Amino acid sequence: MKRVIIVGGGYAGSTLARALDATFEVVLVEPREAFVHNVAAIRSLVEPSLLDRIILPYDRLLKRGQVMRDRVQSVAEGRVTLASGQTHQADYVVLATGSTYAQPFKPVSDAMSDFRTAQAGLQAEIKAARSIAIVGAGAVGVELAGEIASTLSGKDITLIAATARLFPDFPAGLSAKLAADLKALGVRLKTGAKAEGLSGLDRPTRGTLQLETGESLAADLIIPAMGARPATHVTAGLPNARYDSLGRIAVDGWMRPAGMSQVFALGDMAANGDLMTIVASSRQAPWLAKTLTALATGAAVETLPPYTPWLAPPILVPLGPKRGASVLPLGRNGTVVGPFLTGLIKGKSLFNPRYHKEFGL
Ligand SMILES: Cc1cc2nc3c(=O)[nH]c(=O)nc-3n(C[C@H](O)[C@H](O)[C@H](O)COP(=O)(O)OP(=O)(O)OC[C@H]3O[C@@H](n4cnc5c(N)ncnc54)[C@H](O)[C@@H]3O)c2cc1C
Repeated sequence: MKRVIIVGGGYAGSTLARALDATFEVVLVEPREAFVHNVAAIRSLVEPSLLDRIILPYDRLLKRGQVMRDRVQSVAEGRVTLASGQTHQADYVVLATGSTYAQPFKPVSDAMSDFRTAQAGLQAEIKAARSIAIVGAGAVGVELAGEIASTLSGKDITLIAATARLFPDFPAGLSAKLAADLKALGVRLKTGAKAEGLSGLDRPTRGTLQLETGESLAADLIIPAMGARPATHVTAGLPNARYDSLGRIAVDGWMRPAGMSQVFALGDMAANGDLMTIVASSRQAPWLAKTLTALATGAAVETLPPYTPWLAPPILVPLGPKRGASVLPLGRNGTVVGPFLTGLIKGKSLFNPRYHKEFGL
């Protein structure tokens, strides 16, 4: 049986680990106490009881494989070195160290108590604030505006988008539907309005925002939601490592960083041609599972079909349980749908039942 070490038990790593559990000797290295289903970490800010249902222990994820609570420090062909000092060998090493995000949307430490404290802090601040500015109008910022506006009344919410319209890489129908819904919820949307001096801000703050348009905006609470930052620290020692403009490690068509034959990378940390989403890792992980299975039975990698990213990537953007819009991967450019399907697929349950099942709960 071939041995695979998977570095990182986020969405990509845990999905791959489960897919290989029956046929490989799987070692999943993950420093965190538990998996956090961060999709629902937005709604848990206005529905605190949700928090307990999105922190999922690793002990029932795998039937045969092992989840090793440690941090990988460096990687080489077929080998990883852990923070504890041990070195482990494997036939294949898969990097899935993901990305970091401003607090409290993803954990910033390995202790769940820190994540709970950060969430509780922002829950209280949101409750107390009269005016809230959300900086960044990707999926996290837009969903957060929708969750607050649909749950807590009387808040003055401004959502600041640097781009001329929401989700410029998706069909225009998506931004039109979302802008209309946000307006109906009373959220003030400012597009083409980049906030100055906030880059690197990793937690909520308060004060006055300066916008590039010359405007200033005072708010009781300023919440940064400016995007994920790839976590590629483990690749620093790879001899030919290169990175794309977002900071993700460059890989070949078979998900291998340059010059590597037994090291693969997927999820947010790797430039596989997809966006940094779970939707992407849920396409990448089955492909990699299939490819590793073929390699394990003696196939040469170049004879196997390379990975093809999503042509029309889907995106689901609920604004609370009842509103929102999505792009489904139907047709050449995707198909925009409204609140009914958005709520049915994601808005109502936020995929909680699915991840509970995957984690054996
Ligand atoms: C609030 C929020 C909501 C989101 N909602 C959606 C959504 O609805 N749909 C969607 O498609 N995408 C969504 N995303 C994006 C999605 O969360 C990411 O695309 C996803 O987390 C990427 O998965 P990953 O496994 O690559 O990385 P991660 O989930 O970041 O996991 C990486 C794992 O690697 C571990 N790790 C890091 N360094 C090491 C190391 N040195 N050694 C061992 N382990 C290590 C980390 O502890 C972590 O567990 C959302 C993001 C946020 C912040």
